[in-house]
This record gives sequence, C-alpha cells and structure tokens, in this order.
Amino acid sequence: MSAPPTAPPRLVVGIDLGTTNSLAAIRAGKVARVLRDRDGEALVPSVVCFHPDGRTLVGREAKRLRLTCPDRTVFSVKRLIGRSAAEVGAEAARLPYPVVAGERGLPRIRIGDATLSPEAISARILQQVKANAELALGQPVAAAVITVPAWFDDAQRQATKDAAALAGLDCLRILNEPTAAALAYGIDGSKDGTVLVYDLGGGTFDVSILRIDDGVFRVLATAGDTHLGGDDFDLLLADRILAALPGGGKAVDPFVLQAVRSAAEGLKIRLSDAVEAELTLDLGPRGTASLRVTRAEFEAAIAPLVQRTLDCVQRAVRDAGLRLDQIDETVLVGGSTRVPLVRERLRALLGRPPHTEVDPDLAVALGAAIQADVLAGNDRSLLLLDVIPLSLGIETLGGAVQKLILRNSTIPTSVTEEFSTGVDDQTAVELSIYQGERELARDCRLLGTFRLRGIPPLPAGLPRIAVTFLVDADGVLRVHAREQRTGVEAGIQVVPTYGLSREEVRAMMLDSIEHAQADYAAREAIELRNKAEAMVRGAQRALALAELPPDQTYAVHKAVKALERLLAGPTDAAALRAGCDAVTQATATIADDVISAAVTRALREEEGR
Ligand code: AMP
Repeated sequence: MSAPPTAPPRLVVGIDLGTTNSLAAIRAGKVARVLRDRDGEALVPSVVCFHPDGRTLVGREAKRLRLTCPDRTVFSVKRLIGRSAAEVGAEAARLPYPVVAGERGLPRIRIGDATLSPEAISARILQQVKANAELALGQPVAAAVITVPAWFDDAQRQATKDAAALAGLDCLRILNEPTAAALAYGIDGSKDGTVLVYDLGGGTFDVSILRIDDGVFRVLATAGDTHLGGDDFDLLLADRILAALPGGGKAVDPFVLQAVRSAAEGLKIRLSDAVEAELTLDLGPRGTASLRVTRAEFEAAIAPLVQRTLDCVQRAVRDAGLRLDQIDETVLVGGSTRVPLVRERLRALLGRPPHTEVDPDLAVALGAAIQADVLAGNDRSLLLLDVIPLSLGIETLGGAVQKLILRNSTIPTSVTEEFSTGVDDQTAVELSIYQGERELARDCRLLGTFRLRGIPPLPAGLPRIAVTFLVDADGVLRVHAREQRTGVEAGIQVVPTYGLSREEVRAMMLDSIEHAQADYAAREAIELRNKAEAMVRGAQRALALAELPPDQTYAVHKAVKALERLLAGPTDAAALRAGCDAVTQATATIADDVISAAVTRALREEEGR
C-alpha cells in the first residue's frame, strides 16, 4: 500500500539518549549509519550549560564549561529523569549543580532563578541531536525511536517521551537499549536464541539477558551497577599521575584535578592499543608529572572492578534461570568494552569471544535506526514486537497487587478482570494502578489512581466491576472500570506519578518559541494521521498474514475500514484518536495469535527468499 499524498515520506531516526553521550543514526536500504555533525563527530556529550551570559550550550562546548560553570552545567540528567526528588536524593548529592524538590515532589534543577525539569534538559540534548541529524540529512527530522535501559520503568519511559515531545520529536517507540544493541549486531529475531548484552560505559554498567523467540525480544534479566564504568578506571590512573607530581599531588585545585583526569583517560585509551604508554603532563607552575605505565600494571589495578562486572553477569544469568553455557551470543556496548582485559575476562567466563564487529559507542543508535526504519514502514521483512517491561496491576484489599498484565506480554494488549466491593453498601471504589514485580503495593510503583462512583449499594462482593487494562502499541496504559449492572464507568489514561502532567507537557510545548500554537496543532494533526495510517497498514498486514476465525477478521476489518474513512476526510483529532483506539482494541484481544502467526510466517518467507 502506498502512503496517501497527504503524508509526505518521513525520516525516522534512531536516537541513543545516553547518560554521557547521545547520538542519532538512520538506516537507508539495508545499511544503518550514524549521523555526524559539521566536525564529523557523531557523539553529542549529554551536557547542557546555561552560561551566565545568557547562552545555552549543548554538547562538547557545554562539557568544556563543566569546570568553569559547575553549578550551571547539567550532566548525567538521565539519572534523574522520571524519578521523584526523594528517589534521586543520594544521586543528586553527588552532582555539582543544585537539584531541589519541586511541585509534587519532582526533582528540579535550579539554575539562577529558574528551575528546570530533567525532561526539559533532556529535550535540549535531543534538540541538538535532532539539529545535527537534520544537517547531516539535509531534511527535517520529525520522528524518532529512542532507547532507554531495559530496567527503566513506565515513569522513566514516559518522561523520555515527554522530553522528545518538548524537543519537537514524535517518539514513535521507546526501545530497550540491549534489544537495540542486538539488532545492530544483526541479531534480528530470525533465529531463536539467548543473547547477553554487556554494556560498560563511562559511569554505568548494565548487563541484560535477552531471549529471542519467534521474533519477540524478551528481557529475561538485568543486573548492573549505576556507578561503575570507565571513569573509575581513570581515577585509578589519576592517582598514579598525582603521585608523580611534586609533593605527591597533595592539596591540588580542581583545575589540576581535571587536567589529571583528562590525562588519565588519554593514557587509558592508549593502553587499549599499546602494551605500554608514557605521559608527560606539564602543569606550568604547578609542576610536571612524567610516568610510564604498562598495560599489565593498568590491568592489575582495574582487575577488581572488571571482576565486579563479571559478578553481575553471573547474577543476571542465574536470575534468568540459565547456565553460562546456555548463552548463544554476547554483544558489547559502551566505550569501556574496548579495554582488552574486559574482553579477555568475558571470553574466559563465557567460553567464547564476544562479538566486537560493531563500534560499541554506536551500536545502540544503529539498532534504534533499524527499528525506526521498520516503523517507518520501509522494511516489511522484520516484525519487531515490543513487550511490557514491568507487570501492571491494581491494588486489592490488604495492600496486595493483582497483576492484570504480566511483564513481557507483547503489546498492544488488553485484559479485563472482574472485581467487587469489600464493604457492604459501598457506592464508590478507588482504583490504584501499580507497576512492578513485587506482591505488595508498597513495594511497587504507583502509576495513578481514579474513582468509580455510582455503584449500587449492595452487600460486599455483589457488585461486578469489570476493570480493563489496555496498553496500546506505544506502551501507553489506559484503565477503564465498569460496573456491570448499572453500566457506570470511569477511566484514566495513566500518567506516571513521577513525571510531567499532560497539561504541563502541553503548556511547555506551547510556551516554547520554536513551537508556536498553530505549529503545535498542525504537528499534532500530522502525527495523529501518521499514527492512524501506520495502524491501518499494520492491521492489514496482520490480517493478511494471520489465519483468524471469521468473526475476529470481521471485527478488525470493521475497525480498520472506519479508520480509513476518517483518514479520507479532513482531520478530526478526537475522532481519529477514537478510531485508533478501536483498532487497538480490536487487534489487542487477538494480538498474540495474530502476531505469533504473522511472525512465524514472515520469518519463513524471509528464510525462503
Ligand atoms: P560511553 O559511556 O559508552 O560513551 O563510554 C565512555 C567510556 O569509554 C569513557 O570512560 C571512555 O574513556 C571509555 N573509552 C572510550 N574509548 C576507549 C578505549 N579505546 N579504551 C578504553 N576506554 C575507552
């Protein structure tokens, strides 16, 4: 099916929004490539500096100002996004810029008299990545697939989407970083297996175990350390450089420390290629440090840190219910996986060498670009499915959580269960929606609460309240409750507790100079049409591929036809939204059947080609 003339072909990029660096990539044909700026650089440091002279600098320039404007230069904001001020307390204490508790207990970054949300900072980074991508492509970029760690919860994912919206990007999909990395290595779901993704960056370490069955990527387990990475390797070498300075490097100022840290990083990087490296660091009046370090000395120093990562690997494999010899493939992500000792130790542990063909700094963005290409409708051979990262449920009597949608369910999906009242003559119930794997509400994360009123006064246990959880293809959850006898209904679209409210996002977008009101409405309409068109295509493809009973085929067909009729007319946002929901609803109940049949078929066709 060709796209109607109203929808110009869109460029969809993949974006790795990292703690330290961010970058974009695109796939054209079968080849994914990263997008570079004027200087040929792909990585944009995830740093934003609000200079006292009024300029806002992003990326390399901002990173350079970290030392001169420490309280106005924001980095590592990914550690704060989608979390409450209370949750980030310990994290915030490590940061040189002030993080305060704002409204509803949300963390805010104070720059002079202004307070900024982590989403707004991430949006600045995304804007820079978008601008670089547009320069490289010579065309506007409106949509993206953005990656997040596999362990990010709903609030963190939603906050990332909000940041994208603020940056003027339609986030078509949030993709797990390990899934993106696996895709970049050519593990596209056409072969079943178990993949270990080892991601060692500058300041964080993540290991994920993925299971691929019939094209579905499931995260079986994750482990890691949010404060372990190449920066720790640098510190060990920095100690040696300081010791070589006059006076043993005691009582040095922050500028010297920074110079020493940079020199240490340079030394470390050279030791990835050479077995020995020399350094002369001339600090003018503060003295000169000269030293020679062998790779063996460096390895002896970092060995305990590398061992800590391997302990995490073993724990993740155990948590996944597997043995080390059941891992089929290992892929490397993050700059610090270039350290030879890391590769050697992993090979020794797993009994086979890890894949190293893809640049570990670029793998996640390249994988996101592949998914972006699929979502743009350019690659019909790959059917990648998203799964729910954490279970969703409601609180029942006694503070337990009854899970309606289980972790790793493919989306879209919808589940309805019946509940009742706990007290006689109860005419209203409060429904609290939780996310997490634990049994008790207090150990899970509260996503939202709403009330169903107007229940007939009956003895406890008699009212029949049907609660429906519907998760659409974007992972957005809508919850709906209906008392079956009276037909009274209530529902909400769940907005995570630790994020911006829909109104705030809207207001921030309207406020921004770049997106004046008219632009916003126009873009919203375009995005909605694109989404509806993609849904029509997806549903038609699924119908063609799956063998469904006639009544199910009819239901999907009817919803699709209705949406097509709406698309043929002028844009009516509310009607289009309702039409999309109807298609989601029609396909959700059969999603599993359709999808598994479709995946199997698509893969078979692909193999036969
Ligand atoms: P990432 O957070 O993935 O961007 O990784 C950044 C980390 O990788 C930093 O600690 C870098 O010093 C480190 N890194 C980059 N290249 C190399 C290399 N060739 N050898 C060792 N470490 C490296």
